[in-house]
Amino acid sequence: MEPSSIKESIASLDVMGEVEHYHHHFPANTKLHSNSPSTTSVHELLECPVCTNSMYPPIHQCQNGHTLCSTCKIMVHNRCPTCRQELGDIRCLALEKVAESLELPCKYCSLGCMEIFPYYCKLKHENVCNFRPFNCPYAGSDCCIVGDIPYLVAHLRDDHKVDMHSGCTFNHRYVKSNPLEVENATWMLTVFHCFGQYFCLHFEAFQLGMAPVYMAFLRFMGDEREARNYCCSLEVGGNGRKLIWEGSPRSIRDSHKKVRDSHDGLIVQRNLALFFSGGDRKELKLRVTGRIWKEQQNPEGGACIPNLCS
Ligand SMILES: [Zn+2]
Ligand SMILES: [Zn+2]
Ligand SMILES: [Zn+2]
Ligand SMILES: [Zn+2]
Repeated sequence: MEPSSIKESIASLDVMGEVEHYHHHFPANTKLHSNSPSTTSVHELLECPVCTNSMYPPIHQCQNGHTLCSTCKIMVHNRCPTCRQELGDIRCLALEKVAESLELPCKYCSLGCMEIFPYYCKLKHENVCNFRPFNCPYAGSDCCIVGDIPYLVAHLRDDHKVDMHSGCTFNHRYVKSNPLEVENATWMLTVFHCFGQYFCLHFEAFQLGMAPVYMAFLRFMGDEREARNYCCSLEVGGNGRKLIWEGSPRSIRDSHKKVRDSHDGLIVQRNLALFFSGGDRKELKLRVTGRIWKEQQNPEGGACIPNLCS
């Protein structure tokens, strides 16, 4: 054995010792801080040296013991990225066992999640954790801001200059002098604050198949579960006609694009929209009105029962 690999074996034995230490000295509900030396080194050990993601089985190693995640293994053409030796098909069962023995807090523990998970379940949980931060609901830009709802509300107001409204009814006029320009970019966002919650009202124009359409829809700033406690109606009309959409708002967990592409809102064909606009059909003047209310708890969990706005 080359001196360097002996050194490495000793290093990994050390780490194994630290894993034991970690298990005996930290009760399961203790929050682990990343500056704890044992946790740090175990984490480093389970970090793929190529992509730096946490490794999940099968964990591979070269003949010299360098480890690699299964995704990266496919990419490196059978050469160890650390020592350039042939990689072969060696599993690192010891490291897989180490990972199996770990119990770690959800990475959103600082946001309030108190759950502890075996290493291999942690990732699955974190993808659906109720405490995971929300993405910025502002559409039409690649905004990568994430945070809790109060943070995002401030961010929408200050950074995106979004209009903020209090109350559970709305009455908006969307005017466009050249309605023939239908682009994905023509859209608006307004935030409503009522029942102690925030709602995003989207209005936009896009091409639905061959037909240019306008769409209004509401998203709840919170989780799906809570969104179902609210109902909203969206109305648009003119010239003696009216279209009404009614239902629960979607959660901002669903992306703006996902909601739009599922057509879960009030959709108006351009011809009808121009008819609603009255006049010479040259200008788009749509009045969208709506109301948000709290759904009465009913065991069926079905239809929205209107409740008087407070
Ligand atoms: Zn990797
Ligand atoms: Zn190697
Ligand atoms: Zn969690
Ligand atoms: Zn943003």
